[in-house]
Amino acid sequence: MDYILRATAGDGSVRVFIANTKETVQQAFLHHKTSPVMSAALGRALTAVSIMGIMLKSDDDLVTIKINGNGLGKGLVVTGDNKGSVKGYPLNPVVDIPLKPNGKLDVQNALGEGSLTVIKDMGLKEPYVGQIPLVSGEIAEDLTYYFAKSEQTPSAVSLGVLVDRDYSIKQAGGFIIQVMPDADEDIINSLENKLSTIKPFTTLLEEGNTIEDILNILLGNFGVNILDKIPVKFYCNCSRERVEKALISIGKHELETIIKEDKKATLHCHFCNKDYDFNEDDLKTLLNECTK
Ligand SMILES: [Zn+2]
Repeated sequence: MDYILRATAGDGSVRVFIANTKETVQQAFLHHKTSPVMSAALGRALTAVSIMGIMLKSDDDLVTIKINGNGLGKGLVVTGDNKGSVKGYPLNPVVDIPLKPNGKLDVQNALGEGSLTVIKDMGLKEPYVGQIPLVSGEIAEDLTYYFAKSEQTPSAVSLGVLVDRDYSIKQAGGFIIQVMPDADEDIINSLENKLSTIKPFTTLLEEGNTIEDILNILLGNFGVNILDKIPVKFYCNCSRERVEKALISIGKHELETIIKEDKKATLHCHFCNKDYDFNEDDLKTLLNECTK
């Protein structure tokens, strides 16, 4: 089961969120039939958003990351809440490009140049929107830049997805570490040192480390205090009922036009890739429910 640990270290001067998201990314792969490089792109974003969701304060808050790029993958959209539910989709699920010289999936090239937008819907009239240009296209580095630039919070972000030979997800996870302004110089130096020498996240998972172990490797010397363990899952809240409501809301005239011209309608949920089909009778039933 996937989960996130929320923890502090150094008497609360460092806050850490660390996640394993293998099943979540596997579900995304099953829904979208992504090629490996897009599984990696989507999986990294899902991992980040699952953590950024947990950072939200209220149960009704939502966070969304949109990446738009000029690469073959075009970009992706991922949304999460503060209860560990995430969903997302790639704009182009199948991209087949060569690996990087170091043998890693080339997410940077698949996304290309473009922008990363963070949207936080916190029940206010206007959502918070922060946008940065893609500085690397590897997502973790872009989010580090985003946190520094848009939220003025120095952060270390690590995100990893390891794809198996059969394209299933072998490992996935990551962390976001944020240093509070009152953090001790010793902790900052030690952490920077650790971050520059630590093995890639998925390598640590492959070696059998749990995220508790990785947390310890990163900050064990500074009194790690685990505050919370939150389950994470890929979850789409679409349903036939919701889609029916959407169809009813387009209005009598529009619905009559669909019935006359097409005699059927298919509505597609991008997030989980599900189709909802409506035949002529279904549409006529919905027409009767139209009030405008
Ligand atoms: Zn859906």
